[in-house]
Amino acid sequence: MTCWDPRIEEMSKADLQALQYKYLKTSIYRLYSFSPFYHDRMKAAGVHPDDIRSLQDIVKLPFMYKKDLRDNYPDKMFVGGQDELVRYHVSSGTTGKPTVVGYTQNDLNNWALSVARALSSVGLGRKDIIQVSYGYGLFTGGLGLHYGAERVGATVVPASVGNTERQIELIQDLKVTAICCTPSYMLHLAETSQKMGVDINKDTRLRTAVLGAEPWSEKMRNRIQEITGVKAYDIYGTSELSGPLFTECTEQNGIHIWGDLAYVEVLDPETGEQLGPGEKGELVVTMLQKEALPMVRYRVGDITSYDDSTCACGRSHVRISRISGRVDDMLIIRGINVFPSQVEHALLGVPELGEHFQIEVDRKGALDSMLVRVELKPTAFSDKIDDLISLKYKVAHVLHNSLNVAADVELVGPGTLTRFEGKAKRVVDRRNIL
Ligand SMILES: [Zn+2]
Repeated sequence: MTCWDPRIEEMSKADLQALQYKYLKTSIYRLYSFSPFYHDRMKAAGVHPDDIRSLQDIVKLPFMYKKDLRDNYPDKMFVGGQDELVRYHVSSGTTGKPTVVGYTQNDLNNWALSVARALSSVGLGRKDIIQVSYGYGLFTGGLGLHYGAERVGATVVPASVGNTERQIELIQDLKVTAICCTPSYMLHLAETSQKMGVDINKDTRLRTAVLGAEPWSEKMRNRIQEITGVKAYDIYGTSELSGPLFTECTEQNGIHIWGDLAYVEVLDPETGEQLGPGEKGELVVTMLQKEALPMVRYRVGDITSYDDSTCACGRSHVRISRISGRVDDMLIIRGINVFPSQVEHALLGVPELGEHFQIEVDRKGALDSMLVRVELKPTAFSDKIDDLISLKYKVAHVLHNSLNVAADVELVGPGTLTRFEGKAKRVVDRRNIL
């Protein structure tokens, strides 16, 4: 397998580290000089750019959190003026204020470069016809994959989300060879094509799927590959880092993080200490060349481990394992972020309900489903079945409004749900048990 950019992708580890140090140093001086936010944060941490004398000195630098972006909404963390920006992306903001990411032209170029290397590492190139079935718009998925796919010289079908039967017709008629979408949508697509009498393996040229934007398991990969005959690859990124950026290579053995663009640490989430290869902890990423919204030691909150050995594909850049969870307990349901605290907040607004509840998440067919089981207050406990049915609909409506995703509701009697000492186990996620 040839690299998109062999001079960088197969660089010796020593050379790559020297390059990373050069970018880090430049970025920190720039931030210290031009970002009031980061200048203050460095001062508070008692660190000056001159203190960064090696790549390992990165541990002296303070962390950045998602909360910082919210607190500085919309653009108070940006470096440089609006005239240097060429695009905004905005998160959905389901837990309060959304986060805004600005991009300079160089930021967009590096994002497309990262995706181009990634797509090329799964074997895609000029001969491919790539259907991008991520949402186009404020969400980074659609446009992120779009520009990367164009950069490798592929022909892009910007299908965006929805209208699955039409998507399958496009795959057939335009002889699509690769698709980019969420893993659950890929399963949905497979089921719909079966109903339409279309065998993806025999009746289409689709052979590659680049899947991400929600957690998925090896079991799910195997299932997708068995049903469709398509090879499925994991893609990773978040909007704060630019968007989708990194994928596995054809070895399917970890996600390559391009070291000239990003420096990766895996930390013990409690102590903040760096962990070694193979140890599971919180992913922390420093973007080395980002201009408009530089991210330094950003606590992404995803749980992973890293492997810094050279991959069988020849690429020397560090790999991270499939994301196995979140440090906080955020749930991603049909691509939408849901926090148990949001559910709690919504339920507390209904006077008939007690404070004990449980969220059960499952995957029925290809789609996530969420069941919220909540106790009634003793005063609201009633034998009148009609009253309970209308209350149940009311609660479902309140939840849907608050979460932007539908939930089934089950009302249970007072004292029915298990009580926990200390941290309540609010969430039962059955989705990994496929
Ligand atoms: Zn590889």
